[in-house]
Amino acid sequence: MFKKVLIANRGEIAHRIVHVLKSRGVASVAVYSEADAGTPHVKAADEAVLIGPAPVAQSYLNQDAILAAARETGAEAIHPGYGLLSENAGFARRCAEEGIVFIGPTAEVIEQMGDKVAARTTAAAAGVPVVPGSDGPIDDDDTAAALAEQIGYPVLVKAAGGGGGIGMALVKKPTKLARALASCRDRGASSFGNPTIYLEKFIEQPRHIEVQVLFDQHGHGIHLFERECSLQRRHQKVIEEAPSPFVSSTPGLREALCEAALAAARAIGYRNAGTVEFVVSPDGDFYFIEMNTRLQVEHPVTEAITGVDLIGWQLDIAAGAHLTLAQSDISIDGAAIECRLYAEDPAKRFLPRPGHIERFVPPAGEGIRVDSGVGPDQEITPYYDPMIAKLLAHGPSREAATSRARAALEAWVIEPLTTNRVFLHQVLGEDAFVTAQFDTGWLERYVKGKA
Ligand code: ADP
Repeated sequence: MFKKVLIANRGEIAHRIVHVLKSRGVASVAVYSEADAGTPHVKAADEAVLIGPAPVAQSYLNQDAILAAARETGAEAIHPGYGLLSENAGFARRCAEEGIVFIGPTAEVIEQMGDKVAARTTAAAAGVPVVPGSDGPIDDDDTAAALAEQIGYPVLVKAAGGGGGIGMALVKKPTKLARALASCRDRGASSFGNPTIYLEKFIEQPRHIEVQVLFDQHGHGIHLFERECSLQRRHQKVIEEAPSPFVSSTPGLREALCEAALAAARAIGYRNAGTVEFVVSPDGDFYFIEMNTRLQVEHPVTEAITGVDLIGWQLDIAAGAHLTLAQSDISIDGAAIECRLYAEDPAKRFLPRPGHIERFVPPAGEGIRVDSGVGPDQEITPYYDPMIAKLLAHGPSREAATSRARAALEAWVIEPLTTNRVFLHQVLGEDAFVTAQFDTGWLERYVKGKA
């Protein structure tokens, strides 16, 4: 095992990685921006290195500063968390060149899966169903128009390098296609440095269901079942759960999804923790959309129902250990729900609401876990994603997990910050949630009063 690991991230995930390292007797190095001095992840780590001013380009995305911090402190490995540099193949490559272990898959695999067109091709070649659409990049508008007619509207135009819901446009009729193609090309180029676009059929009323996989460096891999992530706003997940009630009630679907995820991961020689994402139609037909070559925000619901410490395994696998878990060791225990707590105002179109936290008393109790990057007397700054903490509720059944989550949301004291806490509580009480009758568009419709 490593003796010292640097965490190239911030907030709740950096805080949590520090704790996993501590529990394994591994020294931790935090890096932080000027805006994050004194935050819990910085205080909890054994060492902390200031890497730059608040804007991410000058701090958390500053590869030179992060690698210098690793060299200075003698860290042998870097955990990138999620977001930021976690899916940056160039950074993974630089780590390798400097003899520092990047805790994740190889740069080549990140590159291959980071290009969504290449990822589709790889998945299809491995026999995994992909959404009907273009075989490769779309070069000209006439080809796009002909293909869209052939697969049928509505279609989605997507940027090959896209992520976080950015660089994606839903097109309902032919007259709107040209504009969507142009805007996705522009968005891909400006946000991801890649103007390549492709086309997919829009699966109506779909669910977003993803499968967690874990592979060691010796070719052994397992899946850890699925997560239901259909409750989204602006293509961003808000509430996630495991297992998926829809999968549980559709015979054969779980086995098929998990096998497909393993096949996609095997096809590229995947290593470490990864997630294969699918859209699933109301009939239970499923299609690969992308693979995330990193830890997901929502990984704790999987940890809760399987009892597997995913970050712990990420470290072991990166250090070369054999994954000693067999598929038959993994089973589903009850149900778990995650709610993302944001500093935002639901009454004002969910605008981010940075501010000062005076009192912060997270909930506790049976089956409750809070992964948080904040504490009392701390500032939520406008520089970063406004997610401040995640609530995890685990119980013997979905009903039990839901009532634990609702009680915890009621008890949570975060003052005087404006958050979506009450909104989350309300959603968990809605019929659509209780009966699990929702698709990826439900939450957006609900917010607009149209659900
Ligand atoms: P990103 O990498 O930006 O998150 P994804 O390809 O994962 O983009 O898609 C984001 C979300 O958009 C998915 O969670 C799903 O809800 C929806 N989506 C993506 N592709 C399709 C599709 N072909 N049909 C319907 N919904 C889709």
